[in-house]
Amino acid sequence: MERGNLLAVLDRFSEPTDSLALLRCARNDGVMINFPYLCINMCKYNLKATFKKHKLQLKRPAGTSRGVLTSKISWFIVVRDEENPNVHGIGEAGILPGLSIDDPNKTENKLNEICQNINDYRFYLEKGLIDFPAIRFGLETALIDLEKNGKRVLFPSGFTKGTDSIEINGLVWMGKFDFMRKQIVEKIESGFSCIKLKIGAIGFDEEITLIKSIRNEFSENDIEIRVDANGAFSKKNALDKLKILSGHNLHSIEQPIKQGQWEEMAKLCETSPLSIALDEELIGIEPKANKRKLLETIKPQYIILKPGLLGGFGQSEEWIELAGDNNMGWWITSALESNIGLNAIAQWTYTLGNKMPQGLGTGQLYANNFESPLAIEKGGLHYVPGQNWDLKDLF
Ligand SMILES: [Mg+2]
Repeated sequence: MERGNLLAVLDRFSEPTDSLALLRCARNDGVMINFPYLCINMCKYNLKATFKKHKLQLKRPAGTSRGVLTSKISWFIVVRDEENPNVHGIGEAGILPGLSIDDPNKTENKLNEICQNINDYRFYLEKGLIDFPAIRFGLETALIDLEKNGKRVLFPSGFTKGTDSIEINGLVWMGKFDFMRKQIVEKIESGFSCIKLKIGAIGFDEEITLIKSIRNEFSENDIEIRVDANGAFSKKNALDKLKILSGHNLHSIEQPIKQGQWEEMAKLCETSPLSIALDEELIGIEPKANKRKLLETIKPQYIILKPGLLGGFGQSEEWIELAGDNNMGWWITSALESNIGLNAIAQWTYTLGNKMPQGLGTGQLYANNFESPLAIEKGGLHYVPGQNWDLKDLF
């Protein structure tokens, strides 16, 4: 069974008494799933909003394709109803420099504007924040949280009840060969069945040696390996590198060449023996007609959805619907959010019913993350219902 591919969106209907409309989809294995399409209807409220900046410190510097990261700024949007001021909805707007299209110099002005005009939230969710996808995601999250009584349970499910978990990939950070190998062994020993390896940092030959050494010990059935080039390959040599990589039973490669080269990427997707997943390519593509055009032009095997970079759940669901129309696979990934953003993304992800391992393993990165009910065990992300949030830094 090819997991999680949506074959067709059958119909969209809304329950007038509920804030969530349901989008009914059929997976290509014939299973019907419902997933919430956001249709926030809060006209009954008199809303107030504030925001707070919070600097997240990494436990240890993380090597990324855009340099070494030691800290990350997130802004937290807090929304409440004047009639019921002790209930807070919280959303996270986190910007990844060099990746988010949000202009960090304009973020606080925009947040001030939204807080002053929070009762116009519908305008901001629909079209007022197209250049600020991180804020759009944060606002959407805060409103859903408020609508669900401010308990950080945005999408009640088996996941939030603690009876089910989400399989995730183990993320292996860039670094020297030995450091990367050590991380891989640790991930496999702690129960992950899928690892994701950032490549394009230590040199291609050394990376192939690393992948070979994993495959010598662990077969394709033991461990699924995904690689992410973050656009590191050149147009000239990308296909040769994809051919070499494909000799090692990998699942897929993310973004082999830089985004914005649709013609070259389309050629690679057509000829590559290794499945290609678009990631950075999707950022900033609006409206829906342009999303469709991108998928129909490039025809990737997979797309990767990061709600924090794409403008939230509603926007990500548009991509999912289009991927279904074009018979493409997809999975969800967090983008270095704190536990507030990660919690919202994880709960939403669970409702999508996609059984592929998701990219939601980033919660343990920060020394000053918020304590939360999220926990990672045996390659799965779990929600522990009795475990409380510690949000004192935000109030
Ligand atoms: Mg990626």
